[in-house]
Amino acid sequence: MSKTGRLALFEKPHQPLVLREMPVPDPKPGAAVVRVTMANICGSDLHAWHGDFKLAGLGGKLPTVLGHEMTGRIVALGEGLTHDGNGERLHEGDLVVYTYFTGCGHCPSCLRGRRVACDHLSMAMTHSALEWPYFVGGYADYYYVEPGATLYKVPEGLPEEVVAGANCALSQVIAGFERAGLTFDETVVIQGAGGLGLYATAVAKAFGARLVIVIDAVAKRLEMARRFGADATIDLTEQAEEKERVNSVKKLTDGRGVDVVMELVGRPEVIPEGIRMLGQFGRYVTIGNINAGLTYAADPSRLVMANKTLYGVSLYEHPVLGKALRFLQRNRDRLPLSELLSTRFSLESINEAFAKADAREVVRASVVP
Ligand SMILES: [Zn+2]
Ligand SMILES: [Zn+2]
Repeated sequence: MSKTGRLALFEKPHQPLVLREMPVPDPKPGAAVVRVTMANICGSDLHAWHGDFKLAGLGGKLPTVLGHEMTGRIVALGEGLTHDGNGERLHEGDLVVYTYFTGCGHCPSCLRGRRVACDHLSMAMTHSALEWPYFVGGYADYYYVEPGATLYKVPEGLPEEVVAGANCALSQVIAGFERAGLTFDETVVIQGAGGLGLYATAVAKAFGARLVIVIDAVAKRLEMARRFGADATIDLTEQAEEKERVNSVKKLTDGRGVDVVMELVGRPEVIPEGIRMLGQFGRYVTIGNINAGLTYAADPSRLVMANKTLYGVSLYEHPVLGKALRFLQRNRDRLPLSELLSTRFSLESINEAFAKADAREVVRASVVP
């Protein structure tokens, strides 16, 4: 292992990230150090960079290192970390994915099986990069996988660009459908056909949904959604009125509305529309709305009178990441997963990557340090 590695320091919102050379830590018992092989720019990294996702609210300290959706190759294993989440032996050199957050295992939330709500939740991007172990986010040569995280070996032959979205985007939508209890033969609307929306489309079909309707304003994305399994699409440029879109969904469901709507847009104003698209006992799942302070106008009678439920879903229980990997393995030849790809940027050009991702000039930007 080289003695030092580079990391992209995030000092404050809207400032360019600055590369710094820092000492590579030795892993404590239960931890691992990985060489980052690919780190995507996820919506929440952009929100953090803009300052509208309050890292401070999560106990975050600046300066830090952004980036959490990633893959890495093990360079050092701490004492006692011997196996992955499938019970397979871990070795130096293994390509792995890992949860980017850990729960303590013994607080009241963890004891209730809700590690995502741990009283002492520890997450990438929330620790100071000037304090040991320095490599606290994905935009760096190395990443320190904390004790308590779950690692999974990447199955042979699954390229890292296919796998890099597993530990955030893909796991997140799987967790969302699990929370909402999506079951066989139900109907689904997905708001937004970005990377998350495309994963959600394929995952909803894998859950057994009989009808998946995807809404977006970009024709190219909707065409991709069809290739990921969408049965119908609604183009916002063709159906500009909310009423029209709600009617379209009703028409496709014999006037009943769908069972589950998933929001992957990140704008609160789409929530009332999605709630209107639900039928009786419908469940609305919001995942993209992480901007503190943004609001929407609500008519709660729409929930009450139709027995609807609203779920906010953040993070996922660790075994979901294992499910995500198996999903990719099963579908690698069936879905156009490699087209979800991403434009690659070196660590030196990380600010260009952020600018392009922010301007939506690329579907997904990946940093390859
Ligand atoms: Zn993410
Ligand atoms: Zn805990």
